[in-house]
Amino acid sequence: MTIGVDDDESAFSRMDDSKAVEESWLRICSKLKGEVGEVEYRTWLTKIALGPIDGDEITLLLPTRFLRDWVRSQYGDRLSELWNQEISSIRRVELQVARPGDPVAPPIMLDEQVSSTAPTMAASNDTEEAPRNPPEVKSDIVASLDTRFTFDTFVVGKPNEFAYACARRVAEKPSSVGFNPLFLYGGVGLGKTHLMHAIGAELLQRGNVSVAYMSAEKFMYRFIAAIRSQSTMEFKEQLRSVDVLMIDDLQFLIGKDNTQEEFFHTFNALVDAGRQIVVSADKSPSDLSGLEDRLRTRLGCGMVADIHATTFELRISILEAKAAASGVVVPTKVLEFLAHKITSNVRELEGALNRLIAHANLFGRPVTLEATQDVLHDILKAHDRRVTIEEIQKKVAEHWNIRLTDMSSARRARAVARPRQVAMYLAKQLTSRSLPEIGRKFGNRDHTTVMHAVSRVAELMERDAAFAEDVELLRRMLES
Ligand code: ADP
Ligand code: MG
Repeated sequence: MTIGVDDDESAFSRMDDSKAVEESWLRICSKLKGEVGEVEYRTWLTKIALGPIDGDEITLLLPTRFLRDWVRSQYGDRLSELWNQEISSIRRVELQVARPGDPVAPPIMLDEQVSSTAPTMAASNDTEEAPRNPPEVKSDIVASLDTRFTFDTFVVGKPNEFAYACARRVAEKPSSVGFNPLFLYGGVGLGKTHLMHAIGAELLQRGNVSVAYMSAEKFMYRFIAAIRSQSTMEFKEQLRSVDVLMIDDLQFLIGKDNTQEEFFHTFNALVDAGRQIVVSADKSPSDLSGLEDRLRTRLGCGMVADIHATTFELRISILEAKAAASGVVVPTKVLEFLAHKITSNVRELEGALNRLIAHANLFGRPVTLEATQDVLHDILKAHDRRVTIEEIQKKVAEHWNIRLTDMSSARRARAVARPRQVAMYLAKQLTSRSLPEIGRKFGNRDHTTVMHAVSRVAELMERDAAFAEDVELLRRMLES
């Protein structure tokens, strides 16, 4: 096989400079983390995104003014020092609130970290003469796994139980799993990376296997660096010497034909040698158009496990688990509120909860619903579902087979009054409309009528499981 360097190579050179800055940043992050501790670091510093460098000044971006002020007062000077140590021309750090369109902080995975003492992946020192041996591969990989991502901390529910079971299976018996590869797919923030790290942690704990985990992006960088330093043979040997190879976010390889080609060969070599492969992507193999057909075919040959969007129940379980682990008491009401409001993915749900917990710790005040709405104001606004009251009325009317006009009519027969109350209740839950606004949409009713409807429905849901199920079902239909 000949390896061309066309598209990937030029992409790489363009990235060279910004890559160096990013690597400096990762080193700074890892130092800071050591200095301030895991909790502080996660709460404040992972929110920082890199902005531009202008002369002797680098801009760092934070999502809110509160965070910016906090980071500035607590870490401003230290950040300047650390940057100056990394890049001596930088003398000042400017902290700004990010505007729409500005870069946001990527989640910091430890596999992305560059530390001067521990290269991240088996193939990281591409230019070195001496080939690496498996024990070294192993120790490098240990350093690259995020210890928070284990099977123990993964909350299992309907949407992810199959993927979880497959992941467990690989972690328990990598040599006789019976399917290869394991292909995990699902939307962003639903736990793919978490499961892969969990597999790695479990395997290493059981010992005696070498595991390699890296993002597809990193795979490409390593590969291109190997081409440049004419050490592709070593790179391949290193990859092919592991027992379990895990490649995260494979969709990154779309359009990167040479890297795909290399991955395909590595893949085949490993499978032929009876090694286990785990791959994740945001889509199923058949939907990953842009990947070579033969690669897609091979990817689909093993076990394809889909992680579905979260359900309300799973979101509650996750919040409960994370709140319990934090040691801060978060009332059920607040957990339910968050699980209703933040339905996009687990990462955002977790982010919201972490912010609440940080506030509680910082100000030593108990978490209440009011405080939650206040602290998470910006997040909640962004997640306001665009469900309209009209949609709610329509769905509810359909469900109970009444006329849409009865939502605003004056009829008070229970057969129409009850569905109308449910619609008001859902309007309160699913939209950011105020009680008077909701009242107006229901035939100009008074806000106290809406208030009454909301509490009446809540009460009935407590008492009548079948009714509660109906309402939940409607909510889910409207949410999706
Ligand atoms: P993905 O790789 O699918 O984009 P991640 O694995 O990075 O998502 O998950 C995002 C965040 O949500 C991580 O912090 C992870 O620990 C958390 N998370 C996702 N799913 C679960 C779950 N089922 N239980 C506990 N935490 C979860
Ligand atoms: Mg991921």
